[in-house]
Amino acid sequence: MPDRSSDRQLMVASQIAPRGVADARVLDAMRSVPREEFVPPAQRADAYADHPLPIGSGQTISQPYIVAMMLEAAEIAPEDRVLEIGAGSGYAAAVASRLAASVCAVERIGDLARAAAGRLARLGYGNVEVRHDDGTGGWPGGGSFDVILVAAAGPEIPAPLLAQLAPGGRLVMPVGPRGEAQRLTRIRRTPEGDRHEDLGAVVFVPLIGAAGYADDGGSAPG
Ligand code: SAH
Repeated sequence: MPDRSSDRQLMVASQIAPRGVADARVLDAMRSVPREEFVPPAQRADAYADHPLPIGSGQTISQPYIVAMMLEAAEIAPEDRVLEIGAGSGYAAAVASRLAASVCAVERIGDLARAAAGRLARLGYGNVEVRHDDGTGGWPGGGSFDVILVAAAGPEIPAPLLAQLAPGGRLVMPVGPRGEAQRLTRIRRTPEGDRHEDLGAVVFVPLIGAAGYADDGGSAPG
């Protein structure tokens, strides 16, 4: 297996830092996780390309910049417990695990959940746990989370996720129509109430589940 660390340095220097991600911990984490391990063999040559890639089951691994930007927006501290909805390949969970105490990640497609859990264990990301479930219900029984990241776009923020957000916590999620541009939304839980911020336009695959979109049986957009 060739050492791709120079590809990672270049990815950060050319795609991520110039677009304004400045948090040194996030940039270091992006330089450390071997993205080529999270994509199918046919995509390995493109693992560090500046766009999403197919990971099977009609789903995608997000563009590197989007992963970094969401993680920076979540302001993850070393002691934080993170919940990710939409584990996909497990890549973003792996990067988040370098920033946080632990990551709980939920994926609704069984094949993806099993593959993500297997590779995270094989690569030694021992503070990540993957569950196969509808993540619009969050992580029942897990208490509250300092950070909730949603990697798929829903019509609104699922109520169970808001219920599992700790005081002072941050939730980052794309909200809007399926298959079109959505707004990346950050909710910050303050003593005065939840503050909503618009972080800009993004395009994500749909969040499908009880508090998301209906499963239309088709595959999701890239
Ligand atoms: N973070 C992933 C990319 C996620 S793509 C990575 O780093 O690879 C979005 C993922 O959300 C897809 O795998 C899709 O199956 C999943 N998803 C969609 N709706 C979901 C739901 N209700 N619960 C859990 N996962 C969901």
